[in-house]
Formats: sequence, C-alpha cells, structure tokens
Amino acid sequence: MPSSSHLALHASLSVSEAHLELAKHCLLFRSVDMETLQRIPDFCDVVKLAPGDILISLGQQNDKLYLVLDGEIRIQTGVAEHHHYVTLQAGECVGEMSLIDGNPASAIVSAVTDSQLLRIQQDALWSLIENSHSIARNLLHILSGRLRSNNVAMNEALEQRAYFEKAAYLDSLTGVHNRRWLNKAFPRELERCQTNNEPLSFAFVDIDHFKNFNDSYGHLAGDIALRAIAQALTKALRPTDLLARFGGEEFAIVFPRADATVAITVAERLRTAVSQLSLRSYDGSSLPTISLSAGLATMSDSDDVESLIARADKALYEAKNSGRDQVVASEV
Ligand code: GH3
Ligand code: MG
Ligand code: MG
Repeated sequence: MPSSSHLALHASLSVSEAHLELAKHCLLFRSVDMETLQRIPDFCDVVKLAPGDILISLGQQNDKLYLVLDGEIRIQTGVAEHHHYVTLQAGECVGEMSLIDGNPASAIVSAVTDSQLLRIQQDALWSLIENSHSIARNLLHILSGRLRSNNVAMNEALEQRAYFEKAAYLDSLTGVHNRRWLNKAFPRELERCQTNNEPLSFAFVDIDHFKNFNDSYGHLAGDIALRAIAQALTKALRPTDLLARFGGEEFAIVFPRADATVAITVAERLRTAVSQLSLRSYDGSSLPTISLSAGLATMSDSDDVESLIARADKALYEAKNSGRDQVVASEV
C-alpha cells in the first residue's frame, strides 16, 4: 500500500532517443505521423518512479497526461484493501480523465515497480489533439476503453451488493430466511391478505428440550439437527408459505391464504416430518428423534402483525405446558 511518505517530487528527465522509441509504441501515438512524433521531446518530459511512489493522489487536481514507457503502474479507487484497482503496463496512459473533465483525480495512481512515464502538459495535449486526427482518435479509443472497464467494475460492485443484500436476509446456519427478512415480508403479506379478504395464519415452531439435546450430544450435533429441521420444514411447506429462523431453535412461519384448519393440517405435517428425521452426528453416530411444539394464530379482523405474533407465542406456551410435541391453535 503506498503511503503518503512516498509523495515526493519525482525526478524529471528530458526525452532521450530510447524514450522516444518506447513512446512510439504507446496507444496515444498509434498511426501518428513521424513529424509529430519527432516533436515529442519539445513538449514532454520523463518522470521516474520507484515502487510505492504516488504519481497522482486521490482528490488531487491533475493537469497532465502520463504515458507508461516501462514498468507497472497501479490505479486504485481508494485505500481500503477491497477497493477496485487496475494495473497499467507500458504503452497505456493515465490522467486523461481528470485532465479532460478538470475534476480532481478519482483514483490513486502509484508505481508497482521502477517505472518511467512520459509526461504531457495539458496545453501540449490540447494542441496535439487539434493538430493530429490520429491522436484525437486514439484518445477517444483510450477513453472508451476506460468507460468500459468502469462499467465492468460497476457491474461487479452491483453484483456484490446484491449478494450481500441477499445474504443479510439469510440465516447462515440453516440457509433459510432470518428474522430480519420476516420483519419485512410478514407485514407485506398480512396487508395483501387483508386487502384481498383472504385468511392468513402464523405459527411459532420451537424444538422441544433442545438444550438437553445440545448438552447430551454437543453443540455441533445440535447444529446438524437445526439444519436438518430447517430442511424438513422447507420441504413440508407450500411454496407460498414464509419460513424464517426466528432465533435459536425457534422458527416462524406465515401461511398466506390459510385458515385455522389448513394451518393446523400443515403444522401437523411439519411436526410429523421433523419427528421422522433420522439424524446422524458428524462422527456418524445416530442421534435421537426430535419433537417440536407449535403455536398457531389465524388472522381476525382486529389483528395486526404484533397481535398475531403475541397470540401464536401464547399458543406455543400452551403447547409446551401441555406436554410438548403438539400443535396448539390460539382462540381469537
Ligand atoms: P423447550 O422444550 O422448553 O423449548 O426447551 P429447550 O431446551 O428447547 O429451550 P431452551 O430455551 O431452554 O433452550 C434452547 C436451546 O437451544 C439452548 C441453546 O443452546 C440451543 N440453541 C439455540 N441456538 C442454537 C444453535 O444455533 N445451535 C445449537 N446447537 N443450539 C442452539
Ligand atoms: Mg425449545
Ligand atoms: Mg425456544
């Protein structure tokens, strides 16, 4: 990572024959007539950089174009590790964006290896553009390439953001949605069913005596069981039902378009599915069967998200108190 201590005045050299030879291979000078090329030493100089030297710092006003004659240059959009960067090799150029639009540099430009760059002052560049079609065309080509790679970087950033947004709504252990997601999805679903005059039910599902399970077989075995339970619940649900791990060994389920009878049937199906799981621990040893308790509440006219959750919670409490391994539906 280049540090500000490397921000030094860079040694400036006049353009030698050897530099000129290298410059001719730069994109900016492709197909440019000899006469113009021979004049390069009149309006350019050469900058030498050591590894880590900063050529252009973030936010700096830049009025020069640099062509990489040899070495390797890095352009990065920020100082953090994950920030996007590209490396430039001999023949490529840097500085054209801030030079043309007059805005402060949007990236840090530094040397990766010992490098030499041809430096063109702003006035000289504009006069080159005015006098040489080839240079104008080459510069357009360079700029469009830069736009293209910016678009690629932007797409990558968008994809990464979408990935993290999605991940933020998933439970990392079981892969099902988490409570944060439910907080968004549940009110939406409830409103939709209310508007359409359709029933809706809600359930809390809690694994019975799961603390004992962990204490007896270990936390890793507990994790295996939780994953298997989440899978079994997902499989036994209808695609329109919303399942989330609410926390610990507790799951929440929204059943859109399900009245109490339907919801009880589905909840019983979940209870059976989980009880039939044959689980094995990480070492292959078999684990005991698992039971669950569920508390159900079906939406009435006066219900909102909070009251439904409270009623389902109360029904779950009753299921636990009545001996566990059962589904209890709350009375309105
Ligand atoms: P009850 O039948 O009354 O629900 O009893 P319980 O033991 O299931 O309930 P309790 O709330 O006492 O304990 C919940 C247990 O769930 C304790 C905790 O270690 C376990 N647990 C919660 N989250 C995880 C997890 O991510 N992995 C594992 N392995 N265990 C978890
Ligand atoms: Mg429990
Ligand atoms: Mg619990």
